[in-house]
Amino acid sequence: MNNENLKNIEELIEKLLIEIGEDSHREGIIRTPNRVAKAWKFLSKGYGQDLDEIINNAVFKEDYDEMVTIKDIDFFSLCEHHLLPFFGKAHVAYIPDGKIIGLSKVPRIVDMYGRRLQVQERMTHQIAESLNDVLSPKGVAVVLEGEHMCMQMRGVEKQNSYATTSSMIGLFRRDSRTREEFLNIISMKK
Ligand code: ZN
Repeated sequence: MNNENLKNIEELIEKLLIEIGEDSHREGIIRTPNRVAKAWKFLSKGYGQDLDEIINNAVFKEDYDEMVTIKDIDFFSLCEHHLLPFFGKAHVAYIPDGKIIGLSKVPRIVDMYGRRLQVQERMTHQIAESLNDVLSPKGVAVVLEGEHMCMQMRGVEKQNSYATTSSMIGLFRRDSRTREEFLNIISMKK
């Protein structure tokens, strides 16, 4: 996002403030368009990132062939239907087939897809496919549990409902015991 993009967003937000009935010159919100533009730069950062840059060669040869699970990764995203936040926990697992990935890269992959407009279903799938592409593992499993502000603040106003989405590839899809092992691990208290 360049300076011209930021400038255009500022103008749009000033218009938005006027359209909803605000006084856009009121002291408290005079700099709001500028702040919102900067916030959007951050929240849409994922559009300018790609997998290679995130992974940055942190894939290593290793014989370890047991399940690797990273659970309770905080994620934040914006629903593409309402531009309202959804956020929660991501749980990611894979079974290596000769290659492992630096553990810190997994939350970064989650962030990259979160910082775009999303639906939770697609985001779940993209995380799983990315790991599958990069590692060619025996299996990948991703579960996202998200709270959606577009459900909680408007419309049905269901404050305590979570959406759970999952994507299972390879052994996690074919073998119910593998899948259950993963589901047990992510439901265990730390
Ligand atoms: Zn929505």
